[in-house]
Amino acid sequence: VKRARSACYNGRMTTVLIIEDEVELVKVLKLYLEKAGYTVLLSVRGDQGLTLWEQSKPDLLIIDLNLPGMDGLDVTRQIRKKSDIPIIMLTARVDEMDRLIGLELGADDYISKPFSPREVVARVKAVLRRTGKSVDIDGKILEIGSLVIDLVGHRVEKDHEVLDLTPTEFSLLASMASQPGRVFTRLQLLEMSQGTAYEGYERTIDTHIKNLRSKIESDTHNPKCIETVFGVGYKFRRN
Ligand code: CA
Repeated sequence: VKRARSACYNGRMTTVLIIEDEVELVKVLKLYLEKAGYTVLLSVRGDQGLTLWEQSKPDLLIIDLNLPGMDGLDVTRQIRKKSDIPIIMLTARVDEMDRLIGLELGADDYISKPFSPREVVARVKAVLRRTGKSVDIDGKILEIGSLVIDLVGHRVEKDHEVLDLTPTEFSLLASMASQPGRVFTRLQLLEMSQGTAYEGYERTIDTHIKNLRSKIESDTHNPKCIETVFGVGYKFRRN
């Protein structure tokens, strides 16, 4: 089997854990992901999936919302308490996505069913790219006020305390803080943080920005780092 180069990180195969109870769907997804060079682990129950996650420490998680054993939301919450693993959540309905995003679970992407396996592979690649595993950013540390952003180490400190950012939040912060004063549209931010941009999903950026602000801003009602540019998007303030 020819392995795709993009699926290797530090010489180790990138492992994707899928927790989903629709067996036929899982089989197809597994096939496509393996063809793309990933190692794939499967679980058809939420509770068993959580155990498998603990044991296998995969690089990325794809999880369905409705699962036997333990609900996908609960599994995600449990995992998020301990890990910043990239998470892609599958939902049966598009209108569920808004609600899910509103729950601020810290999932990095949401895909509604039905989807094409190719789309899932593309999203997996995009999410992994944004975790820094295949991004080439110059070795750089940005210091902005009380914020210190290590672009290579994917580490952010505020007032000498390490912040717990999701990969999406880090990507947004790093992109904007690298070009202070530049106005980014929601679609641009979506594309930079997801690798692809889907029109109609621009507003998901607002939730990520809101979460990011709650972590980096001293006063979220009067944000000093990330400014809203009315009708356009966002920009990072100049020093
Ligand atoms: Ca299901």
